[in-house]
Amino acid sequence: MKAPKTTLIRGGKVVTGESVLKQDLLIRGEIIAESNDLSGCRADLEIDAEGLLVFPGAIDTHVHFNDEFMGTKSVHDFFTGTRAAAYGGVTSIIDFSNQAPKESLLSTIKNKEEEALGKALVDWGVHPVITQPYPETLKEIPLVVEKGAPTIKCYMTYREEGLMIEDDDLASILKQLKKAGGMLMLHAEDNNIIESNVSEMLRSGKTSPIYHARSRPPEAENKAIRRLLRTAEKTGGRIFIVHMATEDGVKMIAAARDKGIDVLAETCTHYLIFTDKMLEREDGIKWICSPPLRSNSVRDALWEGIHNGGISMVSSDDAAYSWDAKLLGAKRFDKCPNGIPGIEPRLNLLYSEGVSKGKLSLPRFVELIAVAPAEIFGMAPKKGTLSPGSDADIVLFDPLKKWTMNCNSLHMAADWSAYEGIKITGKIKKVFSRGELIIDGEKCLAEKGRGRYIYRKLKKGTFPFNRKAVPLK
Ligand code: MN
Ligand code: MN
Repeated sequence: MKAPKTTLIRGGKVVTGESVLKQDLLIRGEIIAESNDLSGCRADLEIDAEGLLVFPGAIDTHVHFNDEFMGTKSVHDFFTGTRAAAYGGVTSIIDFSNQAPKESLLSTIKNKEEEALGKALVDWGVHPVITQPYPETLKEIPLVVEKGAPTIKCYMTYREEGLMIEDDDLASILKQLKKAGGMLMLHAEDNNIIESNVSEMLRSGKTSPIYHARSRPPEAENKAIRRLLRTAEKTGGRIFIVHMATEDGVKMIAAARDKGIDVLAETCTHYLIFTDKMLEREDGIKWICSPPLRSNSVRDALWEGIHNGGISMVSSDDAAYSWDAKLLGAKRFDKCPNGIPGIEPRLNLLYSEGVSKGKLSLPRFVELIAVAPAEIFGMAPKKGTLSPGSDADIVLFDPLKKWTMNCNSLHMAADWSAYEGIKITGKIKKVFSRGELIIDGEKCLAEKGRGRYIYRKLKKGTFPFNRKAVPLK
């Protein structure tokens, strides 16, 4: 048998969730073989990483590919979406798969297998989304957990879109998940508050983008989170709040954890970068997303949550609708498909705005984009680390390079960008996925369909909370 190909990455600064160490990294086949001083060692391919940072491949657990929503469909499929991911240093993604009416829960996984076939460039997993809590659906929960998709999502709003799940049903789903060893992810916004605000605003002619944010105030999110925490306390199930964007949310999670409730939360890139000021611009529809962008002080509170550990990770919530589709909301905020294309720029933005501006330590940065998603979503230690035996998913990063982010310098499939003209420090030079060089500078070398399904299994103990990772240098 032919020996597997070896690659040696020499002299880079290797960043993990714990440390930053100047080390060499040896890859054998698809796996990291050694991480040490390997100056005597030779390999088939040797790469000089002097002056570069070496990160574990980023993981994005919150993306919407081929997502049919608000009368349109997201333009990222498993080819264009994972291609943009790869350019952004993301080597694992987890996509949401909505249960269609009358459809079984198992077919949510099967549908994504078909979508990924011959297309995916990086590894991928699935979160089944329950939209129809039939008794048969609840019975299938252990089956999807067994198939490696132990994280199920539900929406507490979007009633008119047919996505909303009532509290009683959430409790039943959570009980089943608890028994099966799964976790419930929640889009937490109170539907009643939003629906009554929206009709009030439309009645009084308030239809511009900023009213999207006004119709979904922090209280809508907080109220849903409060209800959810009660359900979690009663059932003892594990919950994960997606795209959390309020100050009280961060506090409530901390208090709930103190009481022993099994809950964690993420926020998303755009809540850390933008405020609701963007919605007052003429092209404000670009920033219509839910929950909405909020005030400066909320943005600061979310950064604070990242510092004290109350927010465990940062995902993209990539929801890439075409400009034509976004224009559906030009005169009516409620008709605009909610979402921002963001799968590619996350690592760059968090490095540039976080690490290079002194808000994040390097290990905490890696924790937010790789370690925590891998641990919380059942992919560790295969993913999210650079330890021997793990998948050789690796990003080589030039920390000094400056460039300007815009629609042309990114590789996403949407024909517009919310991140136009942002000055960036730091650039991805190379990306490896399971030992294979898939991004080399501007070139994407990955073959369509090489991405594999990630079988996930959650750990018993939850991810450490309030870990305040590593202090700033
Ligand atoms: Mn959502
Ligand atoms: Mn989402």
